Amino acid sequence: MAERTALVFDERCVLHSPPPGVPGIPLPDWATVETFERPERLTLSRRVLEGSGVLGHVDELPARFATEDELRLAHTPEHVARVLEAARSEDGVQLGHEAWTGPGTHDAMLLASGGLLEATAVVLDGRNRNAFGLLRPPGHHAERSEAMGFCLFNNTAIAARWARRERGLARVAIVDWDVHHGNGTEEIFFDDPSVLTISLHQDGLYPAHTGQLEVRGAEGANVNVPLPPSTGDEGYLHAFDEVVAPAVRRFAPDLLLVGAGQDASATDPLGRMSVNTTGYRALTDRVVALADEVCGGRLVVMLEGGYSLMHLPLCNLAILEGLAGLDPIFPADPIGADVPGGLRDVEREAVAAAVAAHDLKGV
Ligand code: ZN
Repeated sequence: MAERTALVFDERCVLHSPPPGVPGIPLPDWATVETFERPERLTLSRRVLEGSGVLGHVDELPARFATEDELRLAHTPEHVARVLEAARSEDGVQLGHEAWTGPGTHDAMLLASGGLLEATAVVLDGRNRNAFGLLRPPGHHAERSEAMGFCLFNNTAIAARWARRERGLARVAIVDWDVHHGNGTEEIFFDDPSVLTISLHQDGLYPAHTGQLEVRGAEGANVNVPLPPSTGDEGYLHAFDEVVAPAVRRFAPDLLLVGAGQDASATDPLGRMSVNTTGYRALTDRVVALADEVCGGRLVVMLEGGYSLMHLPLCNLAILEGLAGLDPIFPADPIGADVPGGLRDVEREAVAAAVAAHDLKGV
């Protein structure tokens, strides 16, 4: 088995720069408002990875452009055409709720989707042990024919379908730990029992009316784990051990994809969770072990959300260190946010409800 982790990164993904502010609210120059899904998410992550020395332990691979045919694996032809046309415009275009294009979007979004396909290829072809796509814009809110929530094309969904078509895999599992519900991924695979979709998310966050425990998909191949606000490292790991691992084990996929949104971090402006860098490292160790157990270690991680410019780069470092099997440079979270520790009863109850809903006890 290949030994090294691949990191797929492309400078052009920095250039996607949606406008700040809320449409309809005039934004004067002096207002200190910046958009959440902003270029610094990548540039600061890159700086941390460079400074840490971790890049000496991984293979850096260039991204490639996804083709229109590949985008249509997860999206309607009309959606693909509409997004491409908007992205060719020099002006910013709003395509859906909180989803915009602007200068730089065209190349960035095709590299985000295509870069993840490259990451998937090197893992499936045995050239790398596992892979991390550090690319943007994110994708998990994008539905078959809908752009929303900073997402234009659903990168992870495209990769799952690509792995099935191009490498003949029977089953793919997608584990989405972004703090928001992976509604797009759920919608794309809702009638497709060959792809298991699991979303851990803060209950009732964006989108407000999706992600309920009861929504199960074809043959139960969709698992939602709504968690209470303030859930931290222990709560996420409990949910992983009790729900994610048994569900993936029972499904027996040929590939594990992770939608890694680090917006459950304790300092994120768009989530109200309490996960530290140590939690992201432990979650990564869990998915590495699970992939080893069920699918020969085939594991591809894709950046989704994560909007704390303090926490996101350090969480991404923790994830890459975990994928590469390196000791953490920071044994404790260097930010030291004041968050509650331990496992609360509300977290135990939320996880127990998901275990019961999917009949996972003893799996
Ligand atoms: Zn998110």
